[in-house]
Amino acid sequence: MLLEVKNIEKSFVEGVPVVRQTTFSVGENEIFALLGPSGCGKTTTLRLISGFEKLDNGEIYLEDDLLSSTKKHVAPQKRGIGFVFQDYALFPHMTALENVAFGLTDLPKHKRKVFAEEVLCRTGMGDHQHKGPAELSGGQQQRVALARAIAPEPKLILLDEPFSNLDAILRESTRKEVRSIIKKAGMSAVLVTHDQEEALSFADRIGVMNEGRIEQIGTPEEVYYQPKSKFVARFLGRTNIFEGEIEDSDIIETKIGHLKLNRKAKGKITCSIRPEHLTIESPNGTSDKYQKGMIVAREFKGHDITYHVECDGERYIVHTDNRILFEQNDEVVVRPLESAVVLER
Ligand code: ADP
Ligand code: MG
Repeated sequence: MLLEVKNIEKSFVEGVPVVRQTTFSVGENEIFALLGPSGCGKTTTLRLISGFEKLDNGEIYLEDDLLSSTKKHVAPQKRGIGFVFQDYALFPHMTALENVAFGLTDLPKHKRKVFAEEVLCRTGMGDHQHKGPAELSGGQQQRVALARAIAPEPKLILLDEPFSNLDAILRESTRKEVRSIIKKAGMSAVLVTHDQEEALSFADRIGVMNEGRIEQIGTPEEVYYQPKSKFVARFLGRTNIFEGEIEDSDIIETKIGHLKLNRKAKGKITCSIRPEHLTIESPNGTSDKYQKGMIVAREFKGHDITYHVECDGERYIVHTDNRILFEQNDEVVVRPLESAVVLER
């Protein structure tokens, strides 16, 4: 593993830990996302890795070299880690080119600008190299900040909500470009974000963070479709959560009929099924074992439609493609297309 974060802990106020026993690792050429709500400790975790904060407990290693522990603290500029701050933090009185060249202290002076120009071209900013930050749009500043971070060719780059100031369309294209730059350069990255769609589309693996702890680590598909806790299930997107009791089997009874589970379970359980793993049908012709429900709301979103169905006092969210057409107050039955996931917490 390139980066190993082992049981790190941090408090700013005694007795109020902001990062609790956090452990994860990032491989060579891997993009890892720390995803969680505002205030859960993501930025603090990045600042511990970069060395801008000292930790209270645990260790951080880069390529087996100890960077941080209670006894050792390597200075940020000696870690060989690139950092893109949330607000870009470009030097305001320097051009884009000077901003990028500034950190290239390992190169002889006359080579710095040549190389900085090359990196700016790679991030699509070659034509704007002589402009200052004030003359650049948010997206352009973001690319300069990225060029500045990758120019010294660090093994690891840390990105703190780097796309949050961009509008939706620019955000998506910049995300794709940045991902491809990181992958092509053979670097690894840790991305911090509160945006689940961003983490799902940008990262190879995601650590879902809640109140200073990582609740689950997995590929985007794993954390989305196999969440381990209510928090992860809900934070990754809309979902249907059922509580129920079960006798050592993999079928649970719900208001919408029998629901198959991803494993056997016993006793009181909580399970979750994504709205796109449910569908709705007209009740005509289906047997009486399906409980009828009624459409109480409908959200048309172009390529798909979300229906809210009430069944015996409970609400279900169902995503369908835009060819399944029902109206409000229509009577329907809800049917599962996949198994539900048993949640551990
Ligand atoms: P996130 O990036 O997930 O939004 P942060 O790591 O910035 O979360 O903050 C986590 C918690 O730590 C917050 O409650 C924040 O107020 C607190 N915090 C962060 N930095 C400091 C600091 N330098 N001094 C005191 N409290 C801080
Ligand atoms: Mg933050």
